[in-house]
Amino acid sequence: MRRLRRKPLPKKAAEKLKKEQQTAAALRRSKTLDVDKTWSRSRRTKPLKSVFQVLKLMAGSRERCMYCGDSQGTDIEHFWPKAKYPARMFRWPNLLLGCTSCGRDYKGQKFPLSNKRKPLLVDPTSDDPWDHLDFDPATGNLAPRYDSKGNPEAKGEQTVDVLGLDGRRESLALGYKRSFKRIRDRILQIMTAQNLDVSLLITQLREDDEHGVLGWCFRGAGMNEAPFSDFRQTYPVEWAACSKAFRFD
Ligand SMILES: [Zn+2]
Repeated sequence: MRRLRRKPLPKKAAEKLKKEQQTAAALRRSKTLDVDKTWSRSRRTKPLKSVFQVLKLMAGSRERCMYCGDSQGTDIEHFWPKAKYPARMFRWPNLLLGCTSCGRDYKGQKFPLSNKRKPLLVDPTSDDPWDHLDFDPATGNLAPRYDSKGNPEAKGEQTVDVLGLDGRRESLALGYKRSFKRIRDRILQIMTAQNLDVSLLITQLREDDEHGVLGWCFRGAGMNEAPFSDFRQTYPVEWAACSKAFRFD
């Protein structure tokens, strides 16, 4: 899963969202709001199409789903589900790019909250996924990170469960595994090379990483594991340049 920076919307799109949210609020007050109808009518308009385009830009050149990082992002996804939280239906920070599988088969209407009513699901545009998630290179599965007392981190645990990142989605795990192997091989190769061109390395690693695994290797738990820990010790300056480059995916 990639950590993504939210981009600003074009003025017309931002204004449209604001207006649509006000209209939805009025309909809600008069108890006549049909969430699906309101959304699908709006979704067909030009400003909402440009919202979709901005989300695709945010997702990177491969335009993958912001949750799984594997399938193509095919539609606008509501982080807080719109049926249950219509007050966020047209709020820009609530909109992500999602795939059919994450949206329909896994997340659906599931949206776990903490006791303080905070989402227990990683939002890759406001959280660093690798603060909450760990990765198993042997299986390609994701797991929650564990705290110093040996307890799974709650947001990581729920994210893995809701999105089925624990091996239930076989092709997803295979994809993560392949991305990891390319990154690992690249670092192993660098460790024995005579010259190290760090900007070339950064470009190559970005190409190697189809799933956002670089975040695990350079920011997450992976940085303490070989070959990344060796790379950090042997090439501290180059390591720092990579970490800076991979702060966001
Ligand atoms: Zn997905």
